[in-house]
Amino acid sequence: MKVVIVGGVAGGATAAARIRRLDEEAQIVVFERSGHISYANCGLPYYIGGAIGDPAALTLQTPESFYARFRVDMRVLHEVTALHPERKTVSVKDLTTGESFEEPYDKLILSPGARPTQPKLPGVGLGRVFTLRTVEDTLRIKEHIRRERPRSAVLAGGGFIGLELAENLRELGLEVTIVQRPRQLMSPFDPDMAAFLHSQVRSHGIGLALGRTVEGFREREGGVDVLLKDEPSLHADMVVLAIGVTPDTALARAAGLELGVKGAIVVNDRMETSAPHIYAVGDAVQVKHYVTGEDTVIALAGPANKQGRIAADNVCGGDSRYPGSQGSSVIKIFEMTAASTGVNETHARQLGLDVDKVLLSPMSHAGYYPGGQVMTMKVVFEKGTFRLLGAQIVGYEGVDKRIDVLAAAIHAGLKATELKDLDLAYAPPYSSAKDPVNMAGYMIDNLARGVVKQFHAEDIPALPRDGSVTLLDVRTPAEYGRGRVEGFRNIPVDALRERLGELEAGRPVYVMCQSGLRSYIACRILAGHGFETYNLSGGFRCCEAAASDRRLIQRCAPCGMDQ
Ligand code: FAD
Repeated sequence: MKVVIVGGVAGGATAAARIRRLDEEAQIVVFERSGHISYANCGLPYYIGGAIGDPAALTLQTPESFYARFRVDMRVLHEVTALHPERKTVSVKDLTTGESFEEPYDKLILSPGARPTQPKLPGVGLGRVFTLRTVEDTLRIKEHIRRERPRSAVLAGGGFIGLELAENLRELGLEVTIVQRPRQLMSPFDPDMAAFLHSQVRSHGIGLALGRTVEGFREREGGVDVLLKDEPSLHADMVVLAIGVTPDTALARAAGLELGVKGAIVVNDRMETSAPHIYAVGDAVQVKHYVTGEDTVIALAGPANKQGRIAADNVCGGDSRYPGSQGSSVIKIFEMTAASTGVNETHARQLGLDVDKVLLSPMSHAGYYPGGQVMTMKVVFEKGTFRLLGAQIVGYEGVDKRIDVLAAAIHAGLKATELKDLDLAYAPPYSSAKDPVNMAGYMIDNLARGVVKQFHAEDIPALPRDGSVTLLDVRTPAEYGRGRVEGFRNIPVDALRERLGELEAGRPVYVMCQSGLRSYIACRILAGHGFETYNLSGGFRCCEAAASDRRLIQRCAPCGMDQ
């Protein structure tokens, strides 16, 4: 059997190695357009910033090492220029010699990845307007910084790559501004969680110009003007365009393969395309969302690797199936970690799901052991069925571990109430006897049993201020003095039993504290005395973060910057 693979990085290299492990006799040829195989895309921003010092660390394998281990013919600087499914060949151009030839296959695997999305705007393609996808792109940016010593950069786009680059350029001492049309960074996060990301990014001196539409780029005075709709332009010494990626499927389109969302290649769960003997994997393919069942595109390394393995199994006569992607992801933002899995509340509501959520602020490990830090966790689930839909966590230590537990719970089809039952490892330096994931489960279980009812930050403006309900803040007077929500009166939780007489009997009480824990206790005290109570999810902490974020976004100076 002869297998030809297009693309020699995440999906393609995985498929090649797996095929060899399953079939010692197969002839395997990989064509890779760039000069490198199996390189660490995910490490590229950290090489630019210097955290990864040795460029050799980015290339996990060379064609020679791959051949030595797997006897795979890895041909770099070879571009596949056309597919011919009818005669089972591909046209290939040797980019070194310019020579073209046709290569036959028995099975073909496409793993061409995605390209940085390049809008049709004036100035895209200017020398100082970069994109980042390959090792070559990285070296180009690195060399530009070494040679030109830019002092400022604008990142157009605030997703994973934009944020990672912003951090790394900032670490190099550049003035950095992120500009983008959405009013928040990182679309996998809901606005309430993104507020914490914004605050972190701003605290490191990165300017955010959110809600701004880039209309083009113009070279001026050795730098670039970033032209904005209805706003004065931004000026920087260099620009990186990172507004997302587009599946690289021109070959598949020209060959008549079925395409779907964003032009991605349609595959079945065996990674088979609409053309016989042709498989496709990675950023180029359309996948089913594991939680929603929607057709979507999820460009992440984990799915690409899994799909490469599945395609290889099936090429070798097996029957492996891809269950879908749930978009689990994690990002470092300076010393902070932000992670998400499944769908967020915003998206779930757009799909018409009946959504509920809990917001909590647990410690990363036992409070009495030094070094614990607060994380903010949001778990989204379906009302009534308690089906887990997604989770987002922002914090420091231990965020990655909790998101992976939640990702596994979603994959396993656990109900949100069952999070309380997970038997998770505990010792003081690592967690608490009530792990944050268990805590989310306890809270959801309380909702399910009617032990507590909650209200959310977005409900606060509509709460009556006419005395028909009681609005109560149970933090200490000092906390209350530092900041409060208008209309909420202060009775500290520990004084509540003695001061019950100050509350009007028969009126519902809406209770808040800093994080939602003391207010929960207060709700239970009040319920024990006959009051109908509602607990503010996430507490004042989340309200304050969201409110100050909104103020900062609205207060942006005309230059589009806020610090
Ligand atoms: P790729 O790994 O991109 O490989 C495709 C290869 O195909 C390319 O090398 C390309 O040159 C080659 N090719 C395309 N067309 C042809 C052709 N016609 N002929 C020959 N060769 C061709 N994901 C994460 O999960 N976590 C992260 O932290 C993360 N960080 C990232 C950071 C950056 C800067 C980038 C760019 C991506 C990051 N990703 C991350 C995404 C991840 O790298 C991709 O999801 C993954 O590499 C996709 O694998 P793939 O095989 O589909 O495509």
